[in-house]
Amino acid sequence: MHNTDPPFEGIGVDGKKQAVETLREFLAFPLNRTDGIFRRFAELPGATSFGEGRRQVLFVPGSRPIDSGRCLLVAHADTVWDDWPAGETDGSEVHPVLVERNGVIRSGTRKHGIGADDRAGLAILWLLRGLGHSLMITDLEEVGRLGSKWLRDHEPSFLAQINRDHAFAVQFDRREARSFKCYDVGTRGFRRHVAQATGFSEPDRRAFTDICTLCSPSGPVMRMCGTNLSIGYYDEHTELERLVISEWLRSFEVATRWLSTPRLPAFRQTRDERPERGQAMDAG
Ligand SMILES: [Zn+2]
Repeated sequence: MHNTDPPFEGIGVDGKKQAVETLREFLAFPLNRTDGIFRRFAELPGATSFGEGRRQVLFVPGSRPIDSGRCLLVAHADTVWDDWPAGETDGSEVHPVLVERNGVIRSGTRKHGIGADDRAGLAILWLLRGLGHSLMITDLEEVGRLGSKWLRDHEPSFLAQINRDHAFAVQFDRREARSFKCYDVGTRGFRRHVAQATGFSEPDRRAFTDICTLCSPSGPVMRMCGTNLSIGYYDEHTELERLVISEWLRSFEVATRWLSTPRLPAFRQTRDERPERGQAMDAG
């Protein structure tokens, strides 16, 4: 019985300050490198890496009992500025120029954005690492989800096991505030659950991110549902990219409350709501 658990009181003023410090740390990583980020998550207990070169993912197993709802939390380490200037990179690090004013972080140069897509998502994963959910860090999402596709294509039984063991997947890799997308890896029931738990809404089902691949293992296996949450960045992929700190904090707080729930139901993609063959797996 869990009726003695205290109600969630919010993360508090100090919690918010510390969270924003973590956000700044993650935004400071070089835009065109992912090795420092992978090293940081690799320190966590049980962390295992998969892949070849930059076609890689890192998995950190959660400690919550599977039958009370262990989730897979996902963010990508690469930015769209990975190969910048396009085709001319000399291998040296490209550092973001962060300017913070009136609660908004933006780029102090017209040459590139700030990489909030998806370093702001990684910061949330780092902050949620104590909740007992599993973490997955992917690479090369921006050039076609090459890290998560490597896992699907080379470790099919491991990805099938991940789909069996997790209640659902939550990625933190979406622009704007208060919205979510389940693409083709949600069901009506899961969408209702996400909307209720977050207060966010789903504008449409277009586009792709890693969960489209991670929740679509090959073979006739159980597929978990997945969703991608807004984390407060805007105009990603342009030099005008910016992050509204209060919106990022709201998503962090909403996710903390939701994912701290002692029991989370598991959501599986059902056959009649499954995408048409190939639709979710091959585009992008
Ligand atoms: Zn992204």
